[in-house]
Amino acid sequence: MVIPHTPPSEPPQMSKLLVFRRLKTASASLISDAVMFLGGALVAFLLLWSLWSFTNPSSPSSNPIASNTPTTPETRTRTDPTTFYDEPDLSYSVEAQVQNWDEKRRQWLARNPFFSGSTERVLMVTGSQPLPCKNHNGDYFLLRLFKNKVDYCRIHGYDIFYNNVLLHPKMFGYWAKYAAIRAAMVAHPEAEWIWWVDSDAAITDMDFQLPLEKYKNHNLVVHGWPHLVYEKRSWTGLNAGVLLIRNCQWSMDLMARWIKFGPQGPDYEKWGELLRSMFKDKLYPESDDQTALAYLLVEEKDKWGDKIYMESEYYLEGYWVEIVGTLGDVAEEYRAAERQVRRLRRRHAEKGGEWNGGQWEEYMKGFEGWKRRPFITHFTGCEPCSGKHNENYRAEDCWDGMIKALNFADDQVLRNFGYFRPDLSNSSLVQPLKAFD
Ligand code: MN
Repeated sequence: MVIPHTPPSEPPQMSKLLVFRRLKTASASLISDAVMFLGGALVAFLLLWSLWSFTNPSSPSSNPIASNTPTTPETRTRTDPTTFYDEPDLSYSVEAQVQNWDEKRRQWLARNPFFSGSTERVLMVTGSQPLPCKNHNGDYFLLRLFKNKVDYCRIHGYDIFYNNVLLHPKMFGYWAKYAAIRAAMVAHPEAEWIWWVDSDAAITDMDFQLPLEKYKNHNLVVHGWPHLVYEKRSWTGLNAGVLLIRNCQWSMDLMARWIKFGPQGPDYEKWGELLRSMFKDKLYPESDDQTALAYLLVEEKDKWGDKIYMESEYYLEGYWVEIVGTLGDVAEEYRAAERQVRRLRRRHAEKGGEWNGGQWEEYMKGFEGWKRRPFITHFTGCEPCSGKHNENYRAEDCWDGMIKALNFADDQVLRNFGYFRPDLSNSSLVQPLKAFD
C-alpha cells in the first residue's frame, strides 16, 4: 500500500518569515510610488525592511554579521571528517567486538573539543521493562524513582538515559543492563563514565558527589567488600545493581567476558550450576551478573582485579532493610544541624557556585556513619514493577519503605524550591519553609 505523502504544515516560524517576505515584496513595489507618496510610506517600508532583516539572518546583504559567522551547523556537517560512526562494521550490540575504542574515542573528542578535557563527565543509564507494570502501583513507583534520578542528575549536571526496551531479546532481567550500557558507551563517547543505577534504587543524598578522583586508576566501581568476595565467597559480597563503568576498551572487553555467563550464551545453565557451587549462599539457580562478577574477581583476578574498585566507605548502594528505619532520625539530625549552623540553612540556587554539597560534607565529618544520609537506597528484592517481592519481606514494608525513602530524597529537592514535607510518610503534604535569618 502506498501512503500518500502529505506535505508537512508550515511551521509557525516559517509562516512568519513568509508574511514578512510578502510584506517586503509589497513594500518593494512601494518604492516606485515613493516619489509620490514619500513620508509615511517610506517610514513604513523602512520599518518592515528592518523587521524582515531580523527574521532572515541568512540574507548576506541584509545581515553583515551573519556572513562573518565562521560555521553554521550545516557547513560543519559538510566539512566534518569521518569518525568511527562512519565505519560500516561499527556495532552497538553488546555481543560485537570493538577494537581500539580508546583511540576512537580520543579522536572523536579531539574533533569535538567542547567535550574534551573532562574526566568527570557522567551519563547515568537506568531503565525498566517496555510494558506496563503488573503491580497496581508499580508504574507510580517507577515514575517517582525516575524523577528522583532526574533531580539528582539535573542538580549535578549529569546526563541521563532511560532505556525501556530489551536491546538484546535474550538478555532479560539483570542482564539487560549490559546491552544498554554498551550502546550508551558508543552513543556517548563524550561520557567518561557510564553510571548504571537500577530502577529500584533511590538516591537519598542529593548533595553527595561521586568521588571520581578516587577512582582515577579504576575502570569499574561497585559496592562491595573484598574479604566477602575473596574469602567468604559470598554472592552478596558485592552488588551489581549500581555500577560506575569507565567508557573505555577495558570495559568493552570486561563486558564481552562478563556476558558469557548470560542467558544469550550457550553455557547459561552450566554457569548457573558452577556459580552456585562456588558461592554457596547464592539464592537462585540461574547464572546472574552479580555472582558472575564475583567469579571473575576470584578466578581471573590477575586479568580484571586491578581495575575493579569495591567501595564500602559510603553507600554506593545500600540495603534498604538496614536503611529505611533510620531515615526519620537522619532527617532530624540534618534539621538540627541546619538550626545551629547558618551556612547550612542559607537559601541558595539549586545549582551554582555559591553552594555545593561540600558544605554538608565538611560539616558531616564529625557525624557517625548512621547519622549521615545514605547516598543510594536500593530496594533489592522488592520488585516494585512486578510486585513479586522476595518472600522474606512483607509487601507493606517494601512499599512504605520506598515512599519514605523517596520523600526523604524529594524533601531535599523541595527545600530549594521553598517547601518541605513535615511527614516523610505523607507524600502529598508540603509546607512553605519559614523565612531564614
Ligand atoms: Mn535492583
